[in-house]
Amino acid sequence: MVVRSFGPVIVIHGGAGKIAPDLVEARRAGIQAAATHGWQVLTAGGSAVEAVERAVRTLEDDPAFNAGRGACLNRDGEIELDASIMDGRNLAAGAIGAVKRIANPVTLARAVMEAGGPVLLVGEGARQFAAVVGIAECGADALITERQRARWATLQEENAVGVGTVGAVALDRSGHLAAATSTGGLPLKAPGRVGDSALIGCGTYADDQLGAVSCTGNGEAIIKLALAKTALEFLAVGEEPMTAARRAVGELTIRTGAGVGIILLDRYGRIGTARNTAQMACACIRNDNADPEFFD
Ligand code: ASP
Repeated sequence: MVVRSFGPVIVIHGGAGKIAPDLVEARRAGIQAAATHGWQVLTAGGSAVEAVERAVRTLEDDPAFNAGRGACLNRDGEIELDASIMDGRNLAAGAIGAVKRIANPVTLARAVMEAGGPVLLVGEGARQFAAVVGIAECGADALITERQRARWATLQEENAVGVGTVGAVALDRSGHLAAATSTGGLPLKAPGRVGDSALIGCGTYADDQLGAVSCTGNGEAIIKLALAKTALEFLAVGEEPMTAARRAVGELTIRTGAGVGIILLDRYGRIGTARNTAQMACACIRNDNADPEFFD
C-alpha cells in the first residue's frame, strides 16, 4: 500500500484535563498562535525541531498554560519546570527536570540536546548549564502568576490535578519528525519531583522510522507505561495512528486508571490523538492550509 506523505504538519496540545471555563478562550487562542508559529517555521523550510521548539516557546510565554510563565507551584510555593525535545532524524534528545528561573525550558532542553552529552540535566546542574550556554535566568517571581499563587493557597492535595502542560509534534518538508513537551508538573508536587515531560520515551519521543509523540496528564502513570514509546510500538506493528494512540491510552487506563492524553504523528504525517480526560485542547495545521483545525 502506498501512503501519501502529508508533510509538513504540526500538532499542538495544551494539556489533558478539565479546562476552567474562564480559560477556554485563552487556551484556544494560545494553541492557535503556537500552531501558527510552528507552521511558519515549517513553511519557511525550517526543521521539525525548530518548529516544535518555536510552538512550545509560544505556550511557555502564555500565562494561560502550565509551562514557563503561568506554571503551577510545588508544595513549597516554587516553580520547578520539566521539558524535553527529541529529533527523529538521529534520535538526538535533550531534557531538563525540576529547573527554576528559566522562562523557556524547551530552549534549554534543546541546548542540552545540541551539546550532545547527557540527555537529562536536573535542578542546579541544569541552571549551571544554562549559564554556560548563555540562557539567562529570570527572577523566581517573574514566572509566577496571580492565578497560580491563589490556586496554591487554596488547593487541597487530594484534588490537585495538573492542567495546561504543552506539547508539539511536527513533520517537516524533508520528512523529519520531532516532538517537544514542557510543563510546570502537578500542583503541590514534592520539590525535586520530575515527571514524564522530562523523560524521553515517557512524555516525549520522536523517531523518523516510527513517529513522534507528546503526552500529558498524570506523569507517574505515563512513566510507568513509558507511554510515548508504547504508542509508537503500536504503530510499529502496523496500527493506524488513531488506533495506536487509543490503544496506548486504553492500556494505561486499564493498568492505572489515571487521566492522560497524547498527540502522535506517524512518519507519513498522519495524526493520532487520544485522551481519557474530559478535555485536551489540540490544534493542527497541515495540507498547506494555514488555517488551524481544532479538536478536543
Ligand atoms: N504530565 C505532567 C506531569 O505529570 C502534567 C500534565 O501533563 O498535566 O508533570
